[in-house]
Amino acid sequence: MSLKSLKKLRGTVAFRLTLWYSGIFVGSSLLLFFSAYFLLSTSLSKKDQEAIQVRLKELSSLYEVGGLSYLEREVMSEKKFERRETLFVRIAGDRNRTLFLILPYQWSEFNIKELEKRRLGAGLQWFRVSSRNSKHFLEVASIRLSGDYLLQAGKSTEERERVLKHFREIFAAVMIPLILLGFIGGAFLSFRALQPIRHVTDTIRSISTGKMDTRAPIPKTKDELDELVVLFNSMVEKIETLITGMRGTLDDVAHDLRTPMTRLRGIAELALQSESGADGCREALADCLEESDRILEMLKALMDISEAETGVMMLNLKPIDVTTMIGDVAELYRYLAEDKGIALETDSPEDLTLTADPARMRQVLGNLIDNALKYTPAGGRVHVTARMGEKKAYLIVKDTGVGIAPEEFPRIWDRLYRGDESRSQRGLGLGLSLVRAIVRAHGGEVAVESEPGKGATFTITLPAEN
Ligand code: ADP
Repeated sequence: MSLKSLKKLRGTVAFRLTLWYSGIFVGSSLLLFFSAYFLLSTSLSKKDQEAIQVRLKELSSLYEVGGLSYLEREVMSEKKFERRETLFVRIAGDRNRTLFLILPYQWSEFNIKELEKRRLGAGLQWFRVSSRNSKHFLEVASIRLSGDYLLQAGKSTEERERVLKHFREIFAAVMIPLILLGFIGGAFLSFRALQPIRHVTDTIRSISTGKMDTRAPIPKTKDELDELVVLFNSMVEKIETLITGMRGTLDDVAHDLRTPMTRLRGIAELALQSESGADGCREALADCLEESDRILEMLKALMDISEAETGVMMLNLKPIDVTTMIGDVAELYRYLAEDKGIALETDSPEDLTLTADPARMRQVLGNLIDNALKYTPAGGRVHVTARMGEKKAYLIVKDTGVGIAPEEFPRIWDRLYRGDESRSQRGLGLGLSLVRAIVRAHGGEVAVESEPGKGATFTITLPAEN
């Protein structure tokens, strides 16, 4: 591994997590070891001291029973027949002179002479005798017997040191692989845990190079990181839709405006070339004004459609009383209907409420009623109604007009599409595209049913609480 990649690795969260994990793991293992070591060492030393004290008690009772010679005899016979673990035993008389001594041969390295120099009191006393060639001690307890004798018993610390040494060796043998395992395990776990973050980083990198369709793989672990990746992907999805929508809108607007702009230019050019004087120019200017109004109207409709389609349209959602809304919108077209000799009828249940943007819903309904009146000849009928379904509300605009041929059904929703029958009517070919975009932005759908010559029925379905 190069120095640069090593430096990079040191800066990663995974590496820091691994270090923390291993540090805590090693620290707690050491704490566990020291506690166990301390407990073992104190319990071993307690056990040794208890054995020494028991021995002292036994020897002093023997002395009480039969005096010094009885005590010596008993101890010698015990040693001879190895009836029990042999401890160090010393009886000292006047001026601490040794009268009797049992020192197991393996403990001969201890400076027993030290004992003769010690000044001792009357009660139980503990002290340690050093060794000439090892770091062990002879742990000795001393009491005074009646008759001014000194009774001492002791035991070497060698045996318990051996047990503790063995414990230390086992710990070292277990600890080294354990630390390695902890480090590798920690590295593996933190690497795996942070994998979704790395995927998100890679995805961002790929998106910034222009690959907008890249997505991070979802870990499917149902945890916070899973949620983060899902949210990140849906955010990228939204941004992509917006960017694609913006690009599409720009292309569409440029394409859709070409015809009216060319027309506008044509009118101006013709007026300039014609010899018809001021009246002709005035007429051309009036045409230009009309054409530019159409362009402005078209631009507004195109922007509304693209906003609604890309999901950035600001919807001011409120509860709407559907009967009132249908009545109000129909009222706006009442004069037009009467003028054309068409019966405009409305009916809807009293208590139908819908949550939607009131201005946009009026726009949708207005467009459908306007179309129905446009494509229905005099003497016809336009019926606007609403009804409630299972968690859905339906708004229906039905007319008895020219109708739509089934092959035209998919195309009437396209931008700028106008049916052959409608060429003679005013219109931009954007009304139904806008209706569908707004209804979809509300989470609804719009459908058409028609039989040519018999009329058309447009049904808007919107989500609603029963
Ligand atoms: P336009 O401005 O032409 O009305 P729309 O987008 O509103 O544009 O409608 C697209 C086409 O769908 C119309 O040109 C017409 O052919 C057809 N259409 C819409 N509504 C009706 C209707 N109620 N009856 C018959 N045809 C209709």
